[in-house]
Amino acid sequence: MSAATQLPVMIVGAGPTGLSAALFLARRGLPVRIIDAAAEPTTTSKALLVNPRTLDILRDSGVARRIVGEGHAVVGAVLHRAGRQVASIDLRGELSAQLPIGLAQAATEALLTQALAQCGVQVERGTSLQTLHQDAQQVSLNLQSGHGNRTAHASLVFGADGAHSAVRHALDIDFPGHTLAEPWLLWDLHLRTSLDPRCAHIVLAPDGFVFVMNLQADLWRVIGNGAEPLAQLPGDSVAGQVEWQSRFHIGHRLASRFGAGRVMLGGDAAHIHSPLGARGMNLGIEDAWVFAECAARALGGTVAQLQAYADLRRAVDGRVVRKVATLTRLMGGHPPVLRRLRDTLVPQALKLAPLRGLMIRTLAGLDHPLRMPS
Ligand SMILES: Cc1cc2nc3c(=O)[nH]c(=O)nc-3n(C[C@H](O)[C@H](O)[C@H](O)COP(=O)(O)OP(=O)(O)OC[C@H]3O[C@@H](n4cnc5c(N)ncnc54)[C@H](O)[C@@H]3O)c2cc1C
Repeated sequence: MSAATQLPVMIVGAGPTGLSAALFLARRGLPVRIIDAAAEPTTTSKALLVNPRTLDILRDSGVARRIVGEGHAVVGAVLHRAGRQVASIDLRGELSAQLPIGLAQAATEALLTQALAQCGVQVERGTSLQTLHQDAQQVSLNLQSGHGNRTAHASLVFGADGAHSAVRHALDIDFPGHTLAEPWLLWDLHLRTSLDPRCAHIVLAPDGFVFVMNLQADLWRVIGNGAEPLAQLPGDSVAGQVEWQSRFHIGHRLASRFGAGRVMLGGDAAHIHSPLGARGMNLGIEDAWVFAECAARALGGTVAQLQAYADLRRAVDGRVVRKVATLTRLMGGHPPVLRRLRDTLVPQALKLAPLRGLMIRTLAGLDHPLRMPS
């Protein structure tokens, strides 16, 4: 890799996955560039939960400490049905080392960006990848920005450019899976409520489910898949002013390959699933950590070593996508026979230690060991 080792590793996309990859590589002293099509960083909350696995991964960089400082610990989850609490989980016993932290994705991205800047790397904004091709020596990327089109060269590329990834398209990699028919509705809004803000709240509603979690002060996130989630809020909650509202379709998809040669995919570019389980952003940051290790090995050895990233992460991420898809089907509340099963089974299951443990490990991102390829 002699000629190519002089070139930077190019990260395409400065969401949480790309920012983390750039940070991990820069902290290893490797040359890195990171581009993003958007002129400005995102301001929407999107993913709200930073799980213990991610905090562990971000500890050495100091970012975990800042996330804990800015966010709030989530101590449990409460299940509501027909106006009463039917089950709860207290995370404090089972996750004594580190609780999940509630923090808006925009704030997590800002902390990653600051840590990256401290390593001397700035996100090159307003720069979008059009296409790329690779040969035995390097990757050539066609970039578009306000200065027009130009070609950049990189030793390796990490495609962290989200669900509609241009990197994935350039590699002609399929993204098989399915998209749920019904739209999901999301609000960040002010609530007048006596709900415990330290817990996530899930309502088993007649036409689906409603997820409610505190963001800060009296600002809460509400997500639901039914017709009127705001009419099904738990307890005495009363909806107030809306700060952000979104309507989106949920897909469960896994890229058929996680890369080829010098170019790899991570985060939403490689896998998407419903927000149930709060794994999307966290899984992308874990991809970034494994990519950085494999990239360092490939730059010091042979490019073939990068394939270990693709093989390992596709297996790990695929298991999570399948698990979240099953959980989403169960919680979705359709058809009525499945809803009746859900209403009986889920509250009982949470009382059984092995199933409760499985749920907690899934939420915490601790349902698989953090493995590096051997
Ligand atoms: C409305 C909404 C609510 C969500 N809620 C949750 C939640 O509650 N919990 C959870 O875990 N997850 C949630 N998610 C999902 C979570 O936000 C994603 O899993 C996470 O953002 C993935 O990070 P990423 O870095 O892989 O991709 P992204 O965050 O999508 O970042 C991709 C970046 O690539 C850039 N880009 C795209 N194309 C190009 C190009 N051609 N060239 C250069 N740059 C490019 C984009 O501008 C973007 O900044 C939600 C998502 C949405 C949309």
